[in-house]
Amino acid sequence: MIDREQAKQHIRELLEYIGEDPDRDGLRETPERILRMFDEMFRGYDPAQKPAITTFRNGADGIVYDNMVVDTGSFYSVCEHHFRTFFGDYWFAYIPNRRGKILGLSKIARVVDYCSARAQVQERLVHDVVQMLSEALDDEYPPLGMALMMRGRHMCKESRGVRKEGAMVSTYLTGIFRTDAQTRNEFLSYTRNVL
Ligand SMILES: [Zn+2]
Repeated sequence: MIDREQAKQHIRELLEYIGEDPDRDGLRETPERILRMFDEMFRGYDPAQKPAITTFRNGADGIVYDNMVVDTGSFYSVCEHHFRTFFGDYWFAYIPNRRGKILGLSKIARVVDYCSARAQVQERLVHDVVQMLSEALDDEYPPLGMALMMRGRHMCKESRGVRKEGAMVSTYLTGIFRTDAQTRNEFLSYTRNVL
């Protein structure tokens, strides 16, 4: 295990490595600032910061809902190959079981944020988010399916190396989204619109 002081020392060394003077005014506090930023950007490794996911029994508020629920938002993460940001938008959908549980809507965003706060590849991120939401809805009557699409711009591709703008799309589908083309197409139609 490496402690905070050691980590700070290593960041100083990296600053020297690129030709900087870590003792000049503008950089003196930089190692500490970077560590504070890391605490935020990489909180997804800390199980204590895992969001609590509120669920409700379908029908509890007087209506049984069994159509598609779609939620969309943005995400920021870090690629594990270059430690450069990748970021973009996500579209999540699921179809609740008439007798199962439904998700509190803001919880989807919290799970996306938590899972994004790790170094990774986008293919793993879509999987991790769906996995965590499935666990929250785990029940005798699981949802009919879940779908997640993420469209991300990768700074390791745009600001260095090949230097090409562009987006990468990754999806993770379960249940009826995988087996039924009509359901899948309904989901995909939302990802093409403003939503
Ligand atoms: Zn990369």
